[in-house]
Amino acid sequence: MIQPIKHKDGTTDNRYTVNLEFCGYPTARHVARFCTDFISSHVTQKEAIQALEKHKNSYSDSFYCVDCGEGLTGDDAKYKECHKCGSTISN
Ligand SMILES: [Zn+2]
Repeated sequence: MIQPIKHKDGTTDNRYTVNLEFCGYPTARHVARFCTDFISSHVTQKEAIQALEKHKNSYSDSFYCVDCGEGLTGDDAKYKECHKCGSTISN
């Protein structure tokens, strides 16, 4: 399992993973996941990493909850609330 995505400060973003998994194909595929949620499966690891990068760009997760430090997702911004502690987001 690899965690190829980094935060802006250079630390690993643990939410993004690529794993070799058997998922209905005759051979194992590189499965891209976000917070254990299945994003997509790929023949090559490179493609899986690209899928994660694309997913990351679709999220406005470059900001963090000031109360609990949790990285915030597009959904949090949509509902103006941290998904972890429920704190109100102002941006
Ligand atoms: Zn929070």
